[in-house]
Amino acid sequence: MAKAWHLMRRPQGMPVMEDFALKEVALPELGDGMVRVNNRWLSVDPYMRGRMNDVKSYVPPFALEAPMEGGAVGEVYESNDPGFATGDMVLHMGGWRDEVVALGSSLNKLPAIPGVEPQAFLGNLGLTGGTAYFGLLEAASGKEGDIVFVSAAAGAVGSAVVQIAKARGMTVIGSAGGTEKCEFVRSLGADAVVDYKDGPVLKQLSEAAPKGIDVYFDNVGGDHLDAALALARKDARFAICGMIEGYNDTHPTCLKYVMRLIAMRIRLQGFIYTDYLTRMGDFYRDMGGWIASGQIRGRDTVVEGLERTPEAFLGLFTGANIGKMLVRL
Ligand code: NAP
Repeated sequence: MAKAWHLMRRPQGMPVMEDFALKEVALPELGDGMVRVNNRWLSVDPYMRGRMNDVKSYVPPFALEAPMEGGAVGEVYESNDPGFATGDMVLHMGGWRDEVVALGSSLNKLPAIPGVEPQAFLGNLGLTGGTAYFGLLEAASGKEGDIVFVSAAAGAVGSAVVQIAKARGMTVIGSAGGTEKCEFVRSLGADAVVDYKDGPVLKQLSEAAPKGIDVYFDNVGGDHLDAALALARKDARFAICGMIEGYNDTHPTCLKYVMRLIAMRIRLQGFIYTDYLTRMGDFYRDMGGWIASGQIRGRDTVVEGLERTPEAFLGLFTGANIGKMLVRL
């Protein structure tokens, strides 16, 4: 029998293990056009926390007591779709499970690229890399010469933002929690770092960016967003990508410097990765080139075993990952 993680109840604040259950699931017969896939890699992502709440958003909430959807990479081992053969690697949204039977039309066959592991399509060549690319270059209109501040800079999206910004001639300040993460951010090419666990963000950012910032790529919200507002230069552009600080917290965010939006003509642009799906060709061209030339590299934090998937997910909220958090099956 296949096994899949189910959401058993809606978490209150920080999720706990009892909110999830690993259960056996019956797979459908392999009908015409269907493909059987063994999952190799599962993605855990902060946006999944939003889907655990029963609220209207850009994606529907997870159903209770049902398998949870999510990004995964697997290997085809039986196919009734002429487009797929045994051994093909595929990307799909089948989620936190070991095996899936799905219509071939719902799977993306992954190209075999020398030097590129298939799980890169869950990271720099997938959702997180695309979010960084479109968020920085489109939502924030990042351009050569800009001074960019990015939060959660040692994470999957943030580490890609740092590297894309450097590849496009920007000055980058990245924030992360702790010395090891800040060293990693520097190793990606960041010009300066802010260790938000070592003191107030505003004080450190004002020292790192004495002339202020042109772009803020927000992954965190809260004090990070407020510090960016405080130090924004005229016509600064903010890409509002995520606010992980608030995902498990019901207290409203307090922004002391929000009024600077007016005087500094700051543009705040929220965005979702899928807003740019029609532009994926640009992303693959540029990101593919940067990866091939070594200008952009990926780092994964790997948790072993389907059983540990919720643990990997919860680790996103305690900073357990450097780069992309993945589960290997
Ligand atoms: P990630 O950055 O790889 O992992 C989350 C990181 O957030 C942690 O490692 C931790 O790093 C940091 N963090 C967690 N709680 C925090 C807190 N209370 N205060 C400050 N930092 C905290 O995750 P990701 O997948 O790349 O996602 C990053 C952000 O992008 C998230 O907000 C996510 O929701 C958003 N996102 C948006 C889109 C979109 O389409 N708009 C798509 C993908 C992701 P530290 O140890 O440094 O604290």
